[in-house]
Amino acid sequence: MTTTHTTQPDTTHQDNPQNVGLTTGLYREGEPIVDTKAPNGDIGDRWGKRKFEARLVNPSNRRKLTVIVVGTGLAGASAGATLGEAGYNVKSFCYQDTPRRAHSIAAQGGINAAKNYKEDGDSVYRLFYDTVKGGDFRSRESNVYRLAEVSASIIDQCVAQGVPFAREYGGLLDNRSFGGVQVSRTFYARGQTGQQLLIGAYQALERQIAAGTVEMHTRHEMLELIVAEGRTRGVIVRDMVTGAIETHLADAVVLATGGYSNVFYLSTNAMGCNVTATWRAHRQGAHFANPCYTQIHPTCIPVAGDHQSKLTLMSESLRNDGRIWVPKNREDCDKDPREIAEEDRDYYLERIYPAFGNLVPRDIASRQAKNVCDEGRGVGPLVGDFRRGVYLDFTDALTRMSADAVAEKYGNLLDMYQRITGEDPYEVPMRIYPAVHYTMGGLWVDYDLQSTIPGLFVTGEANFSDHGANRLGASALMQGLADGYFVLPNTIRDYLADGPYPALSADSPPVAEARAAVQQRIDTLLSINGERSVDSFHKELGAIMWDFCGMERSEEGLFKAIDLIRSLREEFWRNVRVLGSGEELNQSLEKAGRVADFLELGELMCVDALHRRESCGGHFRAESQTEDNEALRNDDEFAYVAAWEFAQDDTIEGRLTPVLHKEDLAYEYVHLKQRSYK
Ligand SMILES: Cc1cc2nc3c(=O)[nH]c(=O)nc-3n(C[C@H](O)[C@H](O)[C@H](O)COP(=O)(O)OP(=O)(O)OC[C@H]3O[C@@H](n4cnc5c(N)ncnc54)[C@H](O)[C@@H]3O)c2cc1C
Repeated sequence: MTTTHTTQPDTTHQDNPQNVGLTTGLYREGEPIVDTKAPNGDIGDRWGKRKFEARLVNPSNRRKLTVIVVGTGLAGASAGATLGEAGYNVKSFCYQDTPRRAHSIAAQGGINAAKNYKEDGDSVYRLFYDTVKGGDFRSRESNVYRLAEVSASIIDQCVAQGVPFAREYGGLLDNRSFGGVQVSRTFYARGQTGQQLLIGAYQALERQIAAGTVEMHTRHEMLELIVAEGRTRGVIVRDMVTGAIETHLADAVVLATGGYSNVFYLSTNAMGCNVTATWRAHRQGAHFANPCYTQIHPTCIPVAGDHQSKLTLMSESLRNDGRIWVPKNREDCDKDPREIAEEDRDYYLERIYPAFGNLVPRDIASRQAKNVCDEGRGVGPLVGDFRRGVYLDFTDALTRMSADAVAEKYGNLLDMYQRITGEDPYEVPMRIYPAVHYTMGGLWVDYDLQSTIPGLFVTGEANFSDHGANRLGASALMQGLADGYFVLPNTIRDYLADGPYPALSADSPPVAEARAAVQQRIDTLLSINGERSVDSFHKELGAIMWDFCGMERSEEGLFKAIDLIRSLREEFWRNVRVLGSGEELNQSLEKAGRVADFLELGELMCVDALHRRESCGGHFRAESQTEDNEALRNDDEFAYVAAWEFAQDDTIEGRLTPVLHKEDLAYEYVHLKQRSYK
C-alpha cells in the first residue's frame, strides 16, 4: 500500500458546490439507477401485485435448490426458517456459538405494528406516513408502504410462536409509544423484546434444523462472496475454531449480517458486529447505499473514560415516562439534580417541540442534547471543557404511577443502569448522552431485496431499504422480521425459478480465486508483524469517525477525515501486529480482518457525507441548517439514494475511487415538506 494522499478542497468546487467530491477526484459519477422493480399502480396494491407476478417454484423442485443465509439475527433466522419450511435446502451461518446469540438479542424497547389496538387513530397508512416523514423523505414509498402493510402479520406470527409480549390486565397485547409518532403502536416484552423475538425465530430455525432442511454452521465467518458468470454462487468461510477455510456453493445467497455502527469503535452494538460480509460483497460488485446515514441514539449511558470498548443503550421506551432536562443555568450543572428547583430546569424537548415533547425522533433528540451541552448546560463530569450528559428523570412517573408500576414496565432497564453507573434511578435522575446505534445505510437492494449482483439478496439492517436518513424507534425489528418471514421468501422464488444453476466445481476459477484471496489476506495480516495492536487502529478510526462524521459533519472536517483515514489505512497494512496463527481460534486475526474493512468503509462514509451537501435525518451538515438549527434538506439536488459502486484507482494502489449511481426518489403520497415536530 502507498503513502498518504492529501485531498485538499479545490477552489473550482465553489462554482459547482454539489460536486465538491467530484472536482477533487474523490469519486466518479456513473449511470443512474432507473428500475427498482417496484410495481406501479396504487400503493396499496403494489405488494400484492409483485407477490402474484413473482414466479413460483413447485415443492418438488425446491429440494433441488440451495440457499445460503449468512446471519441468524431476526432477519436471518426468520429467512432461514421460512425458506427451510418452504422446502429449500438452506445453509445457515453465524459467527457466534449459537444462532440465538446474534446481536438482535440486545434489542430492548419494542417492535412496531399498525394494529390500532389502542383505537388511537393508527392505520397502515399512518405507519407508512410516519416512517417516510421520520426518515426525512429519503426512503422509498413503495418499500415503506409494504413494511407497514406486513407489520400486523409479524405480531400474529410471533404470538403464534409464543413470544411473551406484554399484556394489559384483561389479556390484550399492550402497546407503548416510540419517537416520531403520536400513537401507541409498539409491542414489547419488558426491555427484552429482541431476545424474546429471537427465541421465537430461533426455535423456528431449530425446528428446520431438526427436520433436515437447514444445515447450521455456527462459529463460521464469511470472508468472501463467490461470483461466477455474473451470479452469486456461494461464500468462502473460515471455521473460527480450527481456522479451516471452507467453500460453500449455492443457487443464491442471502446476507442478513447486521449493521456497521462499530466503524465508530464505540457504539451500542455488540462488540462482534462488523461490516465484513457486506463489504466483501461490495468489493465484488454490490452497490453500497447511503453509507453516511448513521443513527445516533439520544438515550445512552455517557462515555465514562478511555477504557471503554462499548456503550450501553437505555431504551427509547424510557422516553414514554421519563422527562429529559438540563439546568437552565450553567452554574447549576454540577449540583445534585434533586436540589435544582423546578423553575430552574429546562425540559428542552417539551419546550421546543410541544406536540411531540420527549418523543421527538432520535436524530432531533440527539442534536438537541448536543446543543444544550455545547451551550455549557450539560451535566455529569467535565470531559474537556464540557459536560456531556442530560437528565432522564423518572420522578414524575414515580409519583404518578408508583415505583412498582415503573418497575413492571422498565425494571430491567433501570436495574441495568444502576449496575453500570452505581446510581439508583428510582432516587436520582439518570444521565444520558447520544451514542452511535444503528446504520440506515447498507447494501443497495431493489424492491425484491436483491442487490446489484444477481442472486445476492440482503435483509435486515444489512440492507439500506426502508428507513431513509433516520430510522424511527422499534422499526428495525419490524423490518428484519418483515424481510425474513414475509418479503424475501416471496421475492427470492422469482430468482430461484430459473435454477438450479449449472453445477460449479470447487476448483473452477472463480471459486479457487475467491478462496486464494481469503488465504492471501490472512497470510498478509499475520506476516506484517508490526508494532500496533488491531484495537489501537480501530480506536483511532472510531475517534476520526465520531469527530468528523458523527453528529455534525462539515466540508472541512470531512476532507480532513478522509486524509486521516487514508494514512491510518496505509499504516495499518505496514504496522499492524496480529498475534497467533491462522490455524487456531484467533480473535486478533478475526478483528484485524474486520478493522481492515472498516478502514475502507470509513472513507466511503466520509465521501458520501461530503458529497451530500444537505442535512437530512441523522446526516447533519453544519452548512445546511434552518434558522432554528434544524436539518435543512435540499430536495432539488439530493432527493436520491446514493448507491456507490466499488472502484480503486489503478494509478495509486489502495486508493478508493467509488462510482456514484443515483436512484431518484419520487413522493406521490407523502408530499415533500420540511419536517416539523413542533
Ligand atoms: C442495544 C440495542 C437495542 C435495540 N433495540 C431495538 C428495539 O427495541 N427495537 C428495534 O426495532 N430495534 C432495536 N435495535 C436495532 C435492532 O436490534 C437491530 O437493527 C436488529 O436486531 C438487526 O438485526 P439483523 O438480523 O439485521 O442483524 P443482527 O441481529 O446483527 O445479526 C447479524 C447476524 O449476522 C451474522 N454475521 C455477521 N457477519 C457475519 C460474517 N461475516 N460471517 C458469518 N456470520 C456473520 C452474525 O453472526 C449474526 O448472526 C436495537 C439495537 C441495539 C444495539
